[in-house]
Amino acid sequence: MARTKKVGTTGRYGARYGATIRKRVRKLEEKMKMPHRCPRCRIKAIKRKSVGVWVCKKCGFIFSGGAYIPLTDAGKMVVRTARRTHESKTTS
Ligand SMILES: [Zn+2]
Repeated sequence: MARTKKVGTTGRYGARYGATIRKRVRKLEEKMKMPHRCPRCRIKAIKRKSVGVWVCKKCGFIFSGGAYIPLTDAGKMVVRTARRTHESKTTS
């Protein structure tokens, strides 16, 4: 493969789109390619299938998540709120 110097995975864009944007993309892609843990089998085998769709290579579990990382801070808030709403409904 061609040398990508310090630009990493965004080297494929060449000189296009501007340095700042490429840097931002690189940060996201690095997070995206990091090993992510499956919420079902706890094994780090999560791959991004499409925007916001994640699939576990181990158990085949498909779930929705953030666009670039499986679990975003905003996503965690939603889960927490949903759980609390559910609990208050079932206990009353
Ligand atoms: Zn799994």
